[in-house]
Amino acid sequence: MLIQTQPDQIQSFLSDSSYVQGGHAERVVFPKDAKEAAEVLEAATREHNPVTVSGAGTGTVGGRVPFGGIILATDKLDHIKRIVREDAGGLAVAEAGVILSDLQQAVNSEGLLYPPDPTERGCFLGGNVATNASGSRTFKYGPTRNYVQRLTIALAGGDVIDLHRGELFAAADGRIRIPLSNGREIEAQLPSYSMPRLRKHASGYFVAPGMDIIDLFIGSEGTLGVVIEVEVKLLPKPEGLLSGVVFFASEEKLLTFVSEARERSLHSRQTSVAEDIDARALEFFDSQSLGFLRQRYETIPSAAVGAIFFEQETTPAREEALMNGWLSLLEEHDALAELSWFATNEPDQARLREFRHQLPVLMNEWFARHNQRKVSTDMSVPDKEFSGMLRFYEETLQADELRYTIFGHIGDNHVHVNILPRNDDEGARAREIYVQFLKRAAAVGGTLSAEHGVGKLKREYLQIFHSEQHLREMAALKRAFDPAGILGRGNIFAEEYL
Ligand SMILES: Cc1cc2nc3c(=O)[nH]c(=O)nc-3n(C[C@H](O)[C@H](O)[C@H](O)COP(=O)(O)OP(=O)(O)OC[C@H]3O[C@@H](n4cnc5c(N)ncnc54)[C@H](O)[C@@H]3O)c2cc1C
Repeated sequence: MLIQTQPDQIQSFLSDSSYVQGGHAERVVFPKDAKEAAEVLEAATREHNPVTVSGAGTGTVGGRVPFGGIILATDKLDHIKRIVREDAGGLAVAEAGVILSDLQQAVNSEGLLYPPDPTERGCFLGGNVATNASGSRTFKYGPTRNYVQRLTIALAGGDVIDLHRGELFAAADGRIRIPLSNGREIEAQLPSYSMPRLRKHASGYFVAPGMDIIDLFIGSEGTLGVVIEVEVKLLPKPEGLLSGVVFFASEEKLLTFVSEARERSLHSRQTSVAEDIDARALEFFDSQSLGFLRQRYETIPSAAVGAIFFEQETTPAREEALMNGWLSLLEEHDALAELSWFATNEPDQARLREFRHQLPVLMNEWFARHNQRKVSTDMSVPDKEFSGMLRFYEETLQADELRYTIFGHIGDNHVHVNILPRNDDEGARAREIYVQFLKRAAAVGGTLSAEHGVGKLKREYLQIFHSEQHLREMAALKRAFDPAGILGRGNIFAEEYL
């Protein structure tokens, strides 16, 4: 097994897209299969040596940033093992270190679709499972969880388990039992909280009455086990796609447009009548975001104060009717339709997706350049609370004269507010405002993180959403899988809980 110990070899594994500073580790190990990973974990448990699992490092909350011990890199677990076509879709089996864009391309060339699509496609499949990654298409297709059928996981004690969806469930009282190959079993108790009723939620362990135990590992941020291999469900590739970046001169009109597009899309899906519009993505850019993007895209209309990126799947027979459906909806809500951008072929669609991708990239560059700790929200709230929440964000930030952008997955009531402090004073104020936002989200039934997870960056804020008892219950659950507390130390909750 490849092991690297030189500082210049380790360096690139000490950070991620959160810019959490101070990461350090004694070595990086690169297992090639479950057995090698299990051996590393068994020895680390014996020695009480922390292990941080590393994917591609695109995570935004410091989850893979190590503070001591060993880095277990999944880079050598990089095989797509098979892609199988079935009647309605198919399945893919791939190792944890497969790059998402490679999997998507391979699946696409078989005429199939793997829906999860976090904006940053350089991430690894294992990282996606560990964070239950979402993305723009989550509005129609849900998060990574909805596609995971089987996981091979190496546990801290050196056991390897294979969990198939539909085989192992929690008991009604929340007890779970997982048999191990040596005849023993792991027994644990699920935490007592219930999940918020939201379209998206990615903070803390997933729990539900009688849940499938595979779901516990999805979104567990490298704290319960190392994902080695994943089987995912695939869908048939849509025949065609219509996408657009549509601009508005009034944010109020933009919001009514989104509400109607969402309602009609949900209705189309519930009734399975493919007559009306059915967005698979509804993504928001506020006026400050457009200001940033104008640096690279001069053709953004000067009158625009907001924009929506949408995607709609089509068939050749229905493309025109759907295009007309979107155009009349845009007209009804006074969009700047003439100045908006539409794409019906792959190269143009890739350009619109790139436009969407540029914004988080620009934000990350900004934080790095100004050497400021990132203040970036990831909350989602229930449908009826969204417009009030957006107003609260804007009024609070404008009253403080802080620079900011708001963008993201508006179809799921989930936008990212990036506060951009220009100096340390503004940085401190930005963090205070972030706490105000979190308290408001908690008060209206929202979540700390809808998709990026808690990691190390946001763990102190989980207390706003969970009682001390809930945090202790999460830690007790982790100890059942990882008695020495070696895995993903400091992710989700502070080490003192272990
Ligand atoms: C520009 C940009 C845009 C983004 N947009 C989105 C978006 O739209 N939606 C979204 O959901 N995310 C988004 N992200 C966040 C990120 O891409 C996802 O969180 C992704 O799933 C992380 O995968 P990774 O391989 O990079 O994981 P890493 O960053 O390496 O690790 C993330 C966490 O998972 C753990 N982990 C990694 N691999 C494993 C494994 N095999 N077993 C167990 N634990 C593991 C790590 O320990 C860590 O806690 C974005 C990031 C960037 C930089």
